[in-house]
Amino acid sequence: MNLLNDNNWQDFEHSHVWHPYAPLDGALPVYPVSHAQGVRLTLENGQELIDGMSSWWSMIHGYNHPVLNAAINQQLESMAHVMFGGLTHRPAAELAARLVQITPEPLQRVFFCDSGSVSVEVAIKMAIQYWHARGLSKKQKLLTVRRGYHGDTSGAMAVCDPETGMHHLFTEVLSDHFFADAPRPATDDEWQDQDIAGFRSLIEKNHDRIAAVILEPIVQGAGGMRFYAPEYLRQVRVLCDAHDVLLIADEIATGFGRTGTLFACEQADIVPDIMCLGKALTGGYMTMAAVLTTSEIAHAISTQPPKAFMHGPTFMANPLACAVANASIDLLLNSPWQQRIQQMEAAFANHLLPCQEWDGVNDVRFKGGIGVLELDQPVDMPSITARFVDKGIWIRPFGKLVYLMPPYIIENQDLTQLLTAMTEAVAEELRKD
Ligand SMILES: *Cc1c(COP(=O)(O)O)cnc(C)c1O
Repeated sequence: MNLLNDNNWQDFEHSHVWHPYAPLDGALPVYPVSHAQGVRLTLENGQELIDGMSSWWSMIHGYNHPVLNAAINQQLESMAHVMFGGLTHRPAAELAARLVQITPEPLQRVFFCDSGSVSVEVAIKMAIQYWHARGLSKKQKLLTVRRGYHGDTSGAMAVCDPETGMHHLFTEVLSDHFFADAPRPATDDEWQDQDIAGFRSLIEKNHDRIAAVILEPIVQGAGGMRFYAPEYLRQVRVLCDAHDVLLIADEIATGFGRTGTLFACEQADIVPDIMCLGKALTGGYMTMAAVLTTSEIAHAISTQPPKAFMHGPTFMANPLACAVANASIDLLLNSPWQQRIQQMEAAFANHLLPCQEWDGVNDVRFKGGIGVLELDQPVDMPSITARFVDKGIWIRPFGKLVYLMPPYIIENQDLTQLLTAMTEAVAEELRKD
């Protein structure tokens, strides 16, 4: 039985349900989706939109995928959930086996949790517990770079960019960490030693108190869609080793192929001590994240008091999520994903580079399956969103950034339509005032 009817459910929703980073006063429109298939979202009014967002990096195989549906359905018949304290199950073991296989060799131990933000909390606690186990309990701070994004829970927020992360609102709950300048947007060819100077001096001065460096490898996502030189990561790895500091790679957005390699760390040929995975892990079907670490770190935590890693979510290693993650990883590895990412990058070059000349466009950049237009001014959200929807595409800008990260399965014709509609809508929006 429904409590709401076809005429009033949207009004009710609009006045009672929060949306991400939005007020609850009806100021910003939300579009009701009735179903989704492949790269297309269908709205309640029947309109179809080509999806340019992969629902925030996650739906890499598109919507309503028969293989992923079947994986969940099959798991559902045996068990939707069971606690992970004292019990285990095959789907979790299978997922750990896949993650150990596809990530760099030293990452051998896996902790499953509910969401990206929680995996960042877990990674931070892991680093601190490791140093505690090694008798260095003064190492409790993090070192990170500005313009980063690591999630919305308190521990994660404390290492997000202080300005875009609104640290001033939450001063009493956010820990005070060390922030180096954001890595310069550059390639290895443009590398200058100066680029790491600020970071180096922070780690040299404060390493006694620093448990770990945390950063997003190669691509800074929600903090500004910025791409930086692999050499920066290599230098960070060297400095971490030199100063007994762990390196946490937050691959929640970059993981599973989005930047052109399975993991962005591969582009710098470095191995982090701890890696966070989320978003595309389940092909976007269920919320789930994983933290991988080395045997050495796991051993130190497990053998020194309290002889346990102090974290354990209720829905840890949910079997439905594990089952769909296993299917999603197999689907990815058995697809020509590199080729598809290259095709996306080529299409971004074709359609976005010409926008560089436009008044009102500050920068155009793309990497793998990520295409970005950075405007001079923040977008008028309701207005530009309505233009996108009118043109049959779904894009969710933030601030000055209008960006794309389509599902990997998008076909060239749809990709062209998405990019054409996107650039037209931006052009109209820039001309309107
Ligand atoms: C999205 C994201 C997170 C947070 O993940 P949630 O699942 O939203 O909690 C953390 N780090 C990065 C790099 C992300 O892109």
